[in-house]
Amino acid sequence: MSKPLSDHDKRKQISVRGIAGVENVAELKVAFNRHFHFTLVKDRNVANKRDYYFALANTVRDHLVGRWIRTQQYYYEKDPKRVYYISLEFYMGRTLQNTMVNLALENACDEAIYQLGLDMEELEDMEEDAGLGNGGLGCLAACFLDSMASLGLAAYGYGIRYEFGIFNQKIVNGWQVEEADDWLRYGNPWEKARPESMRPVKFYGRTEHTPDGVKWVDTQVVLALPYDTPIPGYRNNIVNTMRLWAGVFFPFSTVNVGGYIQAVLDRNLCENISRVLYPNDNFFENKELRLKQEYFVVAATLQDIVRRFKASMFWLQRDCPHRLRRVAIQLNDTHPAMAIPELMRVLLDEEKLGWDKAWDVCVRTCAYTNHTVLPEALERWPIDLFHHLLPRHLEIIFEINRRFMEVRRMQENPHCHSVRDFYELDPHKFQNKTNGITPRRWLVMCNPGLAEVIAEKIGEEFIRDLDQLKRLLKFVNDDAFIRDIAKVKQENKLKFAVHLEEHYKVKINPQSMFDFQVKRIHEYKRQLLNCLHMITYYNRIKKEPNKHWTPRTIMVGGKAAPGYHTAKMIIRLITAIGEVVNHDPVVGDRLKVIFLENYRVTLAEKAIPSADLSEQISTAGTEASGTGNMKFMLNGALTIGTMDGANVEMYYNRIPELKQAMDQIAGGFFSPKQPDLFKELVDLLMHHDRFKVFADYEAYIKCQDKVNQLYKNPKEWTKMVIHNIAGCGKFSSDRTIAQYAREIWGIEPSLEKIPQPPVMYGA
Ligand SMILES: *Cc1c(COP(=O)(O)O)cnc(C)c1O
Repeated sequence: MSKPLSDHDKRKQISVRGIAGVENVAELKVAFNRHFHFTLVKDRNVANKRDYYFALANTVRDHLVGRWIRTQQYYYEKDPKRVYYISLEFYMGRTLQNTMVNLALENACDEAIYQLGLDMEELEDMEEDAGLGNGGLGCLAACFLDSMASLGLAAYGYGIRYEFGIFNQKIVNGWQVEEADDWLRYGNPWEKARPESMRPVKFYGRTEHTPDGVKWVDTQVVLALPYDTPIPGYRNNIVNTMRLWAGVFFPFSTVNVGGYIQAVLDRNLCENISRVLYPNDNFFENKELRLKQEYFVVAATLQDIVRRFKASMFWLQRDCPHRLRRVAIQLNDTHPAMAIPELMRVLLDEEKLGWDKAWDVCVRTCAYTNHTVLPEALERWPIDLFHHLLPRHLEIIFEINRRFMEVRRMQENPHCHSVRDFYELDPHKFQNKTNGITPRRWLVMCNPGLAEVIAEKIGEEFIRDLDQLKRLLKFVNDDAFIRDIAKVKQENKLKFAVHLEEHYKVKINPQSMFDFQVKRIHEYKRQLLNCLHMITYYNRIKKEPNKHWTPRTIMVGGKAAPGYHTAKMIIRLITAIGEVVNHDPVVGDRLKVIFLENYRVTLAEKAIPSADLSEQISTAGTEASGTGNMKFMLNGALTIGTMDGANVEMYYNRIPELKQAMDQIAGGFFSPKQPDLFKELVDLLMHHDRFKVFADYEAYIKCQDKVNQLYKNPKEWTKMVIHNIAGCGKFSSDRTIAQYAREIWGIEPSLEKIPQPPVMYGA
């Protein structure tokens, strides 16, 4: 009789996790024990899981160091074109497992940890998420860093080292409560501070126009302290750098009005710059500190860029025609858009270039990515605030605008300068790039079982080249393959069900359809439409309790911005529906409604591999891209997506089930102790619905019926899943980055490896 495989044995069998050679394992154990003793300064009597995690993290980190130094030397010698990706958010999640995957160390570490009598998954779970992002925009930046390193681009991520990332969400009595994310409390083994490379950043003051140029004077100075994090490519020995800035006090010798003690206390004011990430997703909040953050990252980063450019050989070749094409700066939304006036300021006022030359450099160097058309997300800073904080930049912006208007006037189109005008002026400057996700984190790392079943059929090349997945189409009628795919899904569902039971004390039916809507809570993403479906399904089961109903577990997760009242009410409605539905004995385990607390990268990695159905139901035309959809598709879920809407008013009375659901929300059915709790949500849906929930209700419910029918036929369902996975190639961020590289940055990506340096201790 064969005993079921333990998690460790299962992980060991999987080849995509690298080879656990005996020597590797022995070396890893030695290194682990040395770090445990010398770095952690612990013995086994007093150690806890976190100590073991840190010992392992340091052991794995050792394997990055040689490659990191070597890569940077290589860039210095070869002097390739540099790419700078500037972003106010890098939503990185955890680093340990990702590093092991990209360095092919996973099986060897697993074996070493097992032989040391420890449990790998327990140690991995001790790592804090680097939650320096809100949602898709920050996730995208993280995926891009992985792809840029994997494609051999000499790229740098530049951002802010927030002391507090996105808040941790607690659900208390059904309501969201925010808790500060103290992620650096126990130290961060992946970063290296570089105090020798601090840069001054100026604020406030005024401008002086003198015969030898414009001076920005009477400023306040904050120092930017860089922290570097290694970004390994996938098995190519390349390690790039993400550099995040922290604000620190500039030790003046000038007399401080408050005296010496006050001067030291004022340290805090400087350090506030990098204290906390603003927790808004797709929403502009007009706050001075946020504007300071946006300029801070840009000003510090441009000093690095200019210094590195001047250290390159091209700087000396004054008449080389390529000299001005050695740097590309990509701006992740308008958040770092001040890079443009700042680069102009540096070139005009410090490097003493003329306007036309400076503007030419700017235009060749900078590119901007637009992510949304929601008006409430667009940044519009008040002139007064801007002038107060950055007087010189405002002058430069006015001058840029004046020159644009000049061009417009010459073209006899004096009064408007819409985006369309700019497009007509320079159509090649406007391009579309479909976003993507990295298949390393979002398949190999989070779903090794599925990666292995795929690798058995088509080899491992798909990890570097996701288009290869289309070769799976050959096996769509292969019964054994269909069974393997279905089996991996079932194992992932069981594992997630166990996780929910352990961490949240909720029991779910692992045979039910796992239906997920996980993303930030937003009216435009229409979690309310999902709510109406939950209620409708509940009412149908209640009406005909003896009919065969496809069992569903509907899981919704996501954070609401702390100041976004309606989003918080939506969370409360979901938890209220759960309270009614989950305790109704007539329903049993045919329908459960679960709000997943504290949705973040790490929870996404655990949840998504278990999904059968992915809810992507935003109002047509409001979601710029979405990447959650791609993660689900790649992990073998089917998608239910949006249709275009029609007239809102005519829907309500015509559809009895919609009316019933609305009457229940309005009448206190889900909030018996407080019948008018959801009055405002009802009013919103009935009278002020920008996002057309009613318009799409009927089509959505009908589509959900089809989903139920299909789920009753597991084989047909899985065939559709395979078709879906096979079509995922386009959604690799490797493809997105290759397009950015060729079509915007003017660089050819490369899958070549650089030589692997030995791991040397004390050398
Ligand atoms: C991918 C991801 C997102 C983006 O999801 P969308 O559905 O595209 O909005 C947000 N948050 C986390 C934690 C993610 O991993």
